[in-house]
Amino acid sequence: MPALFRFAPSPNGALHLGHALSALLNFEAAKQTDGRFRLRIEDIDTVRCTEDKITQMLDDLDWLGIRWEEPVMRQSERFAFYEDHLQDLKAKGLLYPSQASRKDIQRAVKEWETTAKSPWPRDPDGAVHYPRALLFEKEKDGGNAAWRLNMEKAQAAYSHPLFWQETGPLAPTYPQATQIAASPQEWGDVILARKDCPTSYHLSVVLDDAAQGITHVVRGQDLYAATSLHRLLQSLLDLPAPLYHHHRLLTDIGGQKLSKSRQSLSLRALRKDGVTPSQIKKLIRWSDADLEAFTAV
Ligand code: GLU
Repeated sequence: MPALFRFAPSPNGALHLGHALSALLNFEAAKQTDGRFRLRIEDIDTVRCTEDKITQMLDDLDWLGIRWEEPVMRQSERFAFYEDHLQDLKAKGLLYPSQASRKDIQRAVKEWETTAKSPWPRDPDGAVHYPRALLFEKEKDGGNAAWRLNMEKAQAAYSHPLFWQETGPLAPTYPQATQIAASPQEWGDVILARKDCPTSYHLSVVLDDAAQGITHVVRGQDLYAATSLHRLLQSLLDLPAPLYHHHRLLTDIGGQKLSKSRQSLSLRALRKDGVTPSQIKKLIRWSDADLEAFTAV
């Protein structure tokens, strides 16, 4: 069975150098392992992800010399599929509806922290855990509700122990794979279906990696901690576990991670300035050492 890699950008902004590194790593790793390479457009946010941005994104990837298998998967066309699996989790009693707004959550946590004089738990991204116990919400499936995973119940339902194979530079035995113990409880009661759409990044990413037959998930280290949650969802949904490789992140001069929201220099802008694909490789400090962990399977 050939290895299957993917690049899964969210077209809510322009591709930047960090994306170029991620896409090239996946593409080159697929070549090096005689594997295959697929593309997936993660456009569940149908307001921010526009056709224009998608067209530009595909054009940038093509310009970089990246070639992918057709058809390109688009998450915005798969809402019914996500909904089905969401129903599965609901039927297992692992989800509950939640109407609280961001403001409600902030207020409840602030009040609690002031009284308790200690911090409320936070997830690895720094967001507060959903304070269900503080909100005394009625669990009613009314109109506009998000669906949250009941982490306590989910923990009881998954098959212990939960691990993933990591081949990225954070693995202590890099470039050899290391078995990493997953700790999904760090995330609290995450949202699996948003108020405005029947899924979330976490739910659709695990369903689609399985649907596309992905064997190697190669993505930035900013998603390392989320892998714990992805392994939990794979276990609850009976999905296979791919290998994970979380690659180095590019930073700007100030040492900050490149990101669309911080208006990092886009590939489009660099192209306009006459930068060539081989210069892009220099800018991302491309080195064959980046591919060391990928050997023919
Ligand atoms: N769509 C995500 C992003 O653009 C990446 C998802 C993944 O690689 O798992 O950040």
